Amino acid sequence: MKNIVIFGAPGSGKGTQSDLLVAKYGFKHISTGDVLRAEIKNETELGKTAKGFIDNGQLIPDSLMIDILAATYDALGACEGVIFDGFPRTIPQAEALKAMLAERGTAVSTMLELDVPDDMLIERLINRGKTSGRADDNEETIKKRLKVYKDQTAPLAEWYEKEGLRHAIQGFGSLEEINAKLCAVIDAC
Ligand code: ATP
Ligand code: MG
Repeated sequence: MKNIVIFGAPGSGKGTQSDLLVAKYGFKHISTGDVLRAEIKNETELGKTAKGFIDNGQLIPDSLMIDILAATYDALGACEGVIFDGFPRTIPQAEALKAMLAERGTAVSTMLELDVPDDMLIERLINRGKTSGRADDNEETIKKRLKVYKDQTAPLAEWYEKEGLRHAIQGFGSLEEINAKLCAVIDAC
């Protein structure tokens, strides 16, 4: 079973490429952003807590996020593989993921990084905001999210480099082109 981390800035295309990989390989997909948005929609206690952070462009605290991830993972059941989209976002989360998988006799197989320049990310997210209905897809919050990404999440690229798992891919061009590059890495791991 493969455990694939898809990594990149907000708007880098993690969700879009995850859907293509799910269709091709039959993997299951954990998007922590989707999990949190479902909690908000259902007006759960967790959703109420998460909303304050998300609408402000901030990350949900690690301890809470790590518990959510483990519960989501354990609920998946048997499958060909899992794509982790939006997790880990901090070094403590990466360490927790490593430990959680080790406890279950498995490990991250590869980390796929989508590299997209900032101006393109901002343009994509502003456009997405016109139809997504997401409270965090507005220019002010987008800029905060990119700063949070640079400060807290981008250092993870080095962390995965040291683990020997990092594969950086150009995240612009046609969807098919990007998908083909991701598949080549997956097929080799
Ligand atoms: P993309 O556009 O590539 O899907 P994104 O940053 O727009 O990425 P999500 O991954 O959907 O969006 O996450 C939305 C918000 O949910 C984040 O800004 C953050 O507040 C919260 N969140 C999601 N995953 C995590 C996590 N692993 N740790 C902390 N907060 C998280
Ligand atoms: Mg997403």
